[in-house]
Amino acid sequence: MSALQYTPIDKISEIRDTLKQTFRSGKARSLAWRRHQLHQVARMAKENEEAFMAAMKSDLGKPRMESWLGEIAGLVKRILLTAESLEEWTKPEYPEVPDWQKPWRPTVYKTPKGVVLIIAPWNYPMVLSMQPFIGAIAAGCTAVIKPSELVPAFSALLAELIPKYLDPEAYAVVNGGIAETTKLLELQWDHIFYTGNGRVGRIIATAAAKHLTPVTLELGGKSPVIIDADCDINIAAKRILHGKCTNAGQICVCPDYVLIPEHKQDEFIAALKEHHAAFFPEGPLNSSSYGRIVNSMHHGRLMSILNRTKGTIVLGGKTDGKLGLEPTIIKDVREGDSLLEDELFGPLLPIMPVKDVDEAINYVRSKDHPLVLYAFTQNQQLKERLVAETLSGSLILNDACTQLAVNEIPFGGIGESGYGYQILKYTYDGFTHLRSSIDVPYDNEDPFRYPPYSEEARKL
Ligand code: NAD
Repeated sequence: MSALQYTPIDKISEIRDTLKQTFRSGKARSLAWRRHQLHQVARMAKENEEAFMAAMKSDLGKPRMESWLGEIAGLVKRILLTAESLEEWTKPEYPEVPDWQKPWRPTVYKTPKGVVLIIAPWNYPMVLSMQPFIGAIAAGCTAVIKPSELVPAFSALLAELIPKYLDPEAYAVVNGGIAETTKLLELQWDHIFYTGNGRVGRIIATAAAKHLTPVTLELGGKSPVIIDADCDINIAAKRILHGKCTNAGQICVCPDYVLIPEHKQDEFIAALKEHHAAFFPEGPLNSSSYGRIVNSMHHGRLMSILNRTKGTIVLGGKTDGKLGLEPTIIKDVREGDSLLEDELFGPLLPIMPVKDVDEAINYVRSKDHPLVLYAFTQNQQLKERLVAETLSGSLILNDACTQLAVNEIPFGGIGESGYGYQILKYTYDGFTHLRSSIDVPYDNEDPFRYPPYSEEARKL
C-alpha cells in the first residue's frame, strides 16, 4: 500500500486553473463524455474493489462486508443509474405559462456551475467522496476531490487511480491536511461540497462566502431515537444495535442516544444484550464483523466521555488497548451527562429514561435539529405528531441506517446538521444552475409597457 503524499501547496492553484480551462473549453459538457467518465468511475470502483476494501481495512479496520455493501456495491449502482438518467436530468424544461407568454418560449436550461471542490471525511471515504463526485460529473462540472488525511491508504489509492481512469484535465485529487485545504479554500470555486463536522463546516462556509460560492454542508450531530412503549422492543433493540455497531458507530446517521419510557428500559437492555451475543459470539473485539476507531485521538475522546458519565455501563466498555472499543451500553443517563453533550461518533449507546413520549419529544425539540430523528412506534398518531412537531434532516421510523439504501429520497441536514442535499438527482441538482431564458418574437409587442404610461393598461 503506497504512503500518502500530500499535494505540494504551490501546485494547488495550477491544478484549479487547469480544471477551469477545461471547463471553459466545453469539454466536460457533452453527454457522451460525461457518460464515459461516469462509467470510468464505476470501472475504477469495480476493478479495484479488493484494493479499496484492503485500504479501508487498513485505515479503519472496516469489515469487508461493510466496505462492499456500504461503500462499493451501492455506489456502483448509483453511478450506473446516474449515467442512464443523464438525458432525462439534463434536458431543458419548458414550463406551462399563461397563453400570452407562450410565444416567448420560456425555458429552463440545466447548466453546469463550473469548477467545484469536494471535501470528504474519513468515515465512509469512498462513498462520501465519490457520491458528490458523480453528481459533479453528471452536471458537467470539473472537480477537485480532497479526501481525508485520516484515511491515508484510501486517499493515496484514490489519488493513484483517478488519473488512470478519468480525464486528468477535468478531475483531480488533492491530498493533504489543514494547510492544503486552507490553500484550496483561498481559491475561487463555483460550488463547494463539504462533508464532515460542523466546526470545520463553519470554516468552509466562511471561506466560501468571500467568493460568494454556494456550499453544500453535509454535517452530523446527535441523532436521537425515541422509543414508544407500544413498539416491538426486540426488533427495535436489534436494529438500533446494528446501527450503533456499523463502522463501530462512526457513521453520520448513527443512532446517537435512546429516549425510552422508564418502565421499558430494562426490557430494552435485555434485548440489546441478546442481540449483541448473537452478532458477536466470539466477542466484538475478536470479530471480523466489527470495526475499530479511526485513530488514537478519537479513541481517547470516546474513552474520556465514557469515563465521565454518571450513567451505569451495562454492556461493553472495554478496549483492546489499541483502537478497538466494545459496543457499550449505558443506562440511566440523565440530562447534562458527558454522553449527551456532543455527537458521539463511536460505539457508545446512552439510554435516557423518560416519563413518556411527550417528554422525549420536548427533549428533542430543545436541541439542535438532528441529521436524523429515529422513532420506533406503531402508533399512527405519534408518527403524525413527529412529522408535525419535530424537525430533522430525515425522520426514520422503525429502523436505523436503512434509509441510506433508498435511491429516491434526498439526504441532507437542516440547521446544525447542514444544508443542501445528495443522492442521485439531488446531488446533480446541487451542481446545476437553473438558467432561465425567454426569447421574445419581434412582432410580440405590448403597447402599454413603454412610456408615456397610460391608465388604459389598468383596464386590461
Ligand atoms: P475529517 O476530520 O476527515 O474532516 C473532513 C474534511 O475536512 C477532511 O477532508 C479534512 O481534511 C478537512 N478539514 C479538517 N480540518 C480542517 C480545517 N481546519 N480547515 C479546512 N479543512 C479541514 O472528518 P470529520 O469532520 O471528523 O468527520 C466526521 C463528521 O462528519 C461527523 O460529525 C459526522 O457526523 C459528519 N459526517 C456527515 C455526513 C453526512 O453526509 N451528513 C457523512 C459523514 C460524516
